[in-house]
Amino acid sequence: MKAHQQTLGFLKTLSLHGVLQGLDEMINEAESRKVSYLTFLNDVLSAEIGFRIKRRVERNMAGAHFPVLKGLENFDFGRVKGIGKSEAVNLLDCRWIDAKENLLFFGPPGIGKTHLGIAFGRAAVEKGYKVCFERVTNLIKLLKTAEVQRTSEYRIRRIMKSDLVIIDEIGYTPIEKREANLFFNLISELYEKVPLVVTSNKSFESWAEMMGDAVMTTALLDRLLHHAKVFTLDGESYRIKKSRKED
Ligand code: ADP
Ligand code: MG
Repeated sequence: MKAHQQTLGFLKTLSLHGVLQGLDEMINEAESRKVSYLTFLNDVLSAEIGFRIKRRVERNMAGAHFPVLKGLENFDFGRVKGIGKSEAVNLLDCRWIDAKENLLFFGPPGIGKTHLGIAFGRAAVEKGYKVCFERVTNLIKLLKTAEVQRTSEYRIRRIMKSDLVIIDEIGYTPIEKREANLFFNLISELYEKVPLVVTSNKSFESWAEMMGDAVMTTALLDRLLHHAKVFTLDGESYRIKKSRKED
């Protein structure tokens, strides 16, 4: 009994919370299966490692700031042109993240761009990658306030250290020259270091108008497109279709 109490104390001191949780069960199991000392030690360590991985994924899922959680399992590929199911499922392996490739989704509102962005981001978090999701308007707000606001500074720092950054809704609102500059600088810093998922309802041609600077827009697109898979989606808005069904 004393050894048991002491062991619990040691586990706490060493912050081995995964072992702490399942210690009694592991001991009972080892005794009934008569496993070797080595196997027992192995089971104990793997319980701790499994626990830590799970906790890190949970932390990263919260830290990604997904607006909602979506997956490919409830994405209807029959309704949208421009991306095939097998092509999308292949992307879940996240090899494009290791290759520092960007995914760019273009198309009209309600076509599923954000849904797909979240689905790929979520798959990445589940595989152990660190991901940040931001609407471009919020991203620009963060960039503008990073020097005076701690929370913005932390977020920008997390973005810079992520394995994947998802920038949603480029083009919905025009941005000022200074904002476009800040945005361009960020993309330049992330270029070839941190892969991006970008969604936009505006075609490339309209970006210059939105950013108010043709030269900078060309330079920006150059960086985004250098290593990228581009999906131009088309079809009927899922939002409209759904509300029609609900009528
Ligand atoms: P977008 O970002 O292109 O404007 P969203 O991804 O926000 O569109 O999609 C709008 C809503 O419709 C979301 O709730 C999304 O989950 C749903 N949706 C869009 N396309 C599909 C689809 N092909 N299958 C299932 N749900 C979809
Ligand atoms: Mg969207």
